[in-house]
Amino acid sequence: MSTFPYQDRYDVNRRLPEGGRSREEILGELQAMAKEEDAFWETGKCSGTMYCGDHDHYHFLTDAFGLFAHVNSLQRDMCPSSTKFEAEIIAMTLDLLHAEAVHDTEPAGLVTTGGTGSIAHAMLAYREHARQEHGITRPNVVKPETAHPAFDKACHLFGIELRRAPVHPETTLVDVDWVDNHIDDQTVAIIGSACNYGYGTVDPIATLSDVALEHGVGLHVDGCLGGFILPFGKELGYDIPLFDYRVPGVTSISADTHKYGYALKGTSVLTFRDKALRNAQYFFVTDWSGGKYCSPGMEGSRSGGLLAATWASMVYFGREGYRNHARRIFETAETMQDAVRSHAELRILGRPTFLFSFTSDAFDVYHVNDFMRLRGWRFNGQQYPNALHMAVTRPQTQAEVAEAFAVDLDDAVSYAHEHKDAAPRSGAIYGGVAGGMTGEADAFIKAVMADMMDGYQQIPPEG
Ligand SMILES: *Cc1c(COP(=O)(O)O)cnc(C)c1O
Repeated sequence: MSTFPYQDRYDVNRRLPEGGRSREEILGELQAMAKEEDAFWETGKCSGTMYCGDHDHYHFLTDAFGLFAHVNSLQRDMCPSSTKFEAEIIAMTLDLLHAEAVHDTEPAGLVTTGGTGSIAHAMLAYREHARQEHGITRPNVVKPETAHPAFDKACHLFGIELRRAPVHPETTLVDVDWVDNHIDDQTVAIIGSACNYGYGTVDPIATLSDVALEHGVGLHVDGCLGGFILPFGKELGYDIPLFDYRVPGVTSISADTHKYGYALKGTSVLTFRDKALRNAQYFFVTDWSGGKYCSPGMEGSRSGGLLAATWASMVYFGREGYRNHARRIFETAETMQDAVRSHAELRILGRPTFLFSFTSDAFDVYHVNDFMRLRGWRFNGQQYPNALHMAVTRPQTQAEVAEAFAVDLDDAVSYAHEHKDAAPRSGAIYGGVAGGMTGEADAFIKAVMADMMDGYQQIPPEG
């Protein structure tokens, strides 16, 4: 797909227009683009990313957003509503994650801009707290290889050494003995995912908790993806291990409201067992000529609209609404997994939940992807081994989507057999699509990825 498909249809702005345009015309242009782009995922054939997909709900959220979009929630004297929204978002999330099980410390939270934001703030909090309390100056963190790259990014940004623990190839779960053996006196935290992005599997949080308690280090549970759906899956009777504050060694959990909380993009909740950990990363400048400055996290000004819309989404659904959507999502995920299991040449990795990943030992599974793309499906591609992942969201719960998946998959498996001696066209890039690059030199792969990113934010080329 071209990076600039609108080039020929609309004016390209290389400088501010001298005279402004009419609102009507601008909105018309925006509506046309939004409508076309929404049509792509409304079919239900796109993995993840559109967690809600209900335009009625989006209208409701944008109404809520619009009332406070212009408000700067950093300036609370002017917007006590932001304090109500943020406090209640945190309280409701802590409750969902069973913070009532915490007795010796005061649980707390922070609303951030997304999963990466929550993970970054958690890593910063562990680093700062360990420095302040234990004089740790060369901090390290141990993560399962399957944990999200946001941990790598946070460690990169904050000068934390990251140790990557291998996972068991069959279960995809972290090798806890490896983690245990790689904790030292500079380790500030270990990580577990509930669930991980790649395979939808839940790390053995209870065992990681034993290790964390034994060594006196933190345990962050990445519930960015699962935080707002796994608790309801568990209530519905699905076999999901405990991963919340009822596990005594869990010291922080991230849960994305902008995923299965069905809020607008741009919010996530980072919760802490102990307020002292959150407060360790508070930022202050007391001697600035512009005034005394403080901020609870990395952001400065934040839109009150995002807090209002996130709050609105949570109180609109309530436990019952979330549970009902979780039921349909888990059922759809089971139907789709049954379709995969009906093919002896396909293999589901580990014991997944609402998100599953499959590979093949008979052919390169990217052949399946090549074919499914022609039928309008968009999966996320993985590597080591090559695999395709499907995060089931509400758009897939529409009538006949799971059935279409089974039918298309049958044809895709035949196609893969026929083409198994050729190289597949698609390959693994998170959140994007690129040519098969497995086995290329790292520098070359980075150059291709940099080109791709350049393309996303380049000055519009001369038409
Ligand atoms: C999405 C995701 C993240 C990162 O979240 P962003 O919102 O993309 O910044 C982290 N961990 C897991 C498991 C995720 O699925």
